[in-house]
Formats: sequence, C-alpha cells, structure tokens
Amino acid sequence: MVRGRSFQHCKACGAAVEYRVPAGDNAERAVCPACGTIHYENPLNVVGAIPVWQGRVLLCRRAIEPRRGYWTLPAGFLELGETLEQGAQRETLEEAGARIELQGLFSVLSVVRVGQVHLFYRAALLDVDFAPGEESLEVGLFAEDEIAWDDLAFRTVTQTLRWYFDDRRRAQFGVHTADIA
Ligand code: ZN
Repeated sequence: MVRGRSFQHCKACGAAVEYRVPAGDNAERAVCPACGTIHYENPLNVVGAIPVWQGRVLLCRRAIEPRRGYWTLPAGFLELGETLEQGAQRETLEEAGARIELQGLFSVLSVVRVGQVHLFYRAALLDVDFAPGEESLEVGLFAEDEIAWDDLAFRTVTQTLRWYFDDRRRAQFGVHTADIA
C-alpha cells in the first residue's frame, strides 16, 4: 500500500509536520503540531483516450521517464478545473497533436501501488494531421497485430487495449474495471 509522505512542512504555517493518526481517524496523516492543520494525500487521476482512425489505434512513444521509449495511449494527470473529458482531449492534443471526439468512458483501473486511478475514453480521431508533442518521440496508428505488445509502457494501457479489441470483435463496447496489482 502507498504510504504518502510527501509533506514535510505545513501548507498553512510552514512548521515541520508530524506523521500520526489524528483523533477519530484511522490512517496516518501529516499533522502540523503548530497550527493543527491536517494534510490529506489521496490518489491522483490519470485520464486518457483510445483514439481510432479507420480501425487503427493512435499510440505515442514516450520521450520522458518513466518508461521512455515505450508505447502508450495518450494520457496524463487530470488538472484542477477540468472535467475528465476535457483532460482526455487535452492530453491527446498535447502528446499527439491530435483532435478527437469522445465516444464514452471505456476503462477504469485502480493502481493502488502507486496511488492512481487510470480512466480511458473511446474516441474517434477527427483527422490524421497529428504530430508528436514534447512528451512523445513519435506517434502512429496501429492495427491490433501491428502493436508492439511487449513494448507498451503501462499495464493499464495493455489491459485497456486488450479489452478494446475484444469488445470490437463482439461489436459491443462496455465499461471495464480492474485492479492492477
Ligand atoms: Zn501549521
């Protein structure tokens, strides 16, 4: 289990925090001994898309760590002030220079080990005028048998793509959930 210890100083007054279980709580928190502020650390949302053009899926080869050089669906941390849908579209534009129309939530994966929830939307690519952004080495369209399955960056991406092609064979798309150990 993730034990967040990212706070060292109180966000309210700057004093050094202590990690302990506050009264009435059941988990260790960063507590400020000076002003009493309790700092909570919670999982982050990673949102992405499965952009498709004529049966092929758009993938990006990562230019940044972690997993530099490996392939992924466009995805990234949801920002404050945006919806999941806006986040999926923004990340696709940033990483692949690609414009998409979302077609519904497709997968929700809990990655407890790193304190993240990954969410992917099905999407139609609106044109093929895409190009790698700052965080991508290259971007391309791949049929199922063209994907370098052993060179995918994250298990959430591998699982989502497997569900996607399985559902497409059945011509019935659902919403899929899983815990990634
Ligand atoms: Zn304080």
